[in-house]
Amino acid sequence: MFSRCIFCLKRRERADGSLDRSSEHVFPDALGGRLVVDYPCTRCNNQLGSSVDSDLSAFLLTKLRMHMLGLSDPNDPMPILSGRGTISADGTPVLSKATMAEGMTVKILPQKTIADNDDGTRTLSLKVDGSDLDAARKTISRFLQSTGQAAPTDADLDAILSQGRRGQYAQPNVNFQLALGPFPIRALVKIIYELACHWLGEGWFRRDAVARAMRRFILNGEKHPLIEMHGDSDKWPKAIEDLVSIYPGAHIGLMPMISAQRDCARVFVRVLDCYHCWMIVSKEPSNYTLPADGRVVINEPNKAVRETSMTMITVEYIHAMNLGPDSPLSLVVRSP
Ligand SMILES: [Zn+2]
Repeated sequence: MFSRCIFCLKRRERADGSLDRSSEHVFPDALGGRLVVDYPCTRCNNQLGSSVDSDLSAFLLTKLRMHMLGLSDPNDPMPILSGRGTISADGTPVLSKATMAEGMTVKILPQKTIADNDDGTRTLSLKVDGSDLDAARKTISRFLQSTGQAAPTDADLDAILSQGRRGQYAQPNVNFQLALGPFPIRALVKIIYELACHWLGEGWFRRDAVARAMRRFILNGEKHPLIEMHGDSDKWPKAIEDLVSIYPGAHIGLMPMISAQRDCARVFVRVLDCYHCWMIVSKEPSNYTLPADGRVVINEPNKAVRETSMTMITVEYIHAMNLGPDSPLSLVVRSP
């Protein structure tokens, strides 16, 4: 057992003199995490729970995936994904929305240009979605009145609209960017940090430079060159590939590893089957007493991967996602 909190490194005591420890789900309870430790003090646990863990469970992609896996509270409404995009063929702007009930819908955003002609007249050019004709009527009416004409009747507007050219996009490709906001990367670093504490012990979190950098990042968002995160499945070490193939349906997964050269220790995690990440947690693993009870997986080629004692909880496996912290998620959707 540790003699102090793994985050503030303080030894806080309760009134009876015992060490203040707080029960903590390493993987958030809201996401199905079942691994519980008592490493943080109450104050750090409360503060990080409301500022870091909640960012991950409230993240739109997390909520959407929870719904798809049937892990959400049935009373929670399905989040709506919406974003702006363009049709590949001609750059026409569109608004796209996706819901579980209706699937993906794509709608052309109104495009309006007004030109001043040499003869003193003005021309309005309008391109709207077929479902937006009421908005088009209002735009035309306002334009006519702005040029000094009387307000058009409904019949006038119908006559103008009937002159419009109707077109259709047959199965257009739409480049669509979801505005998800930055990925809550601190929550993943926190999971990895807690696992590294569990695995490498108090000597690690009190002395290792990577541990210090991880703590600062978790507590303050302070970036440091020692914080390297890898979410790209192309660059997974062989042991992770093996683990994923052994547990193809894992919902929550983790694996500590020592490199074959013994020059670094890494921790790999998978959360909700869509977030994968591994990080170097120490460049000096020989400084720590590593547990000898099977918790360590040695990443040596040609050797079978040994399971960790903290194994995986199974739901389903879909795909890896690149965890660039600021990159928006890009999708190409096809209209119905
Ligand atoms: Zn603390």
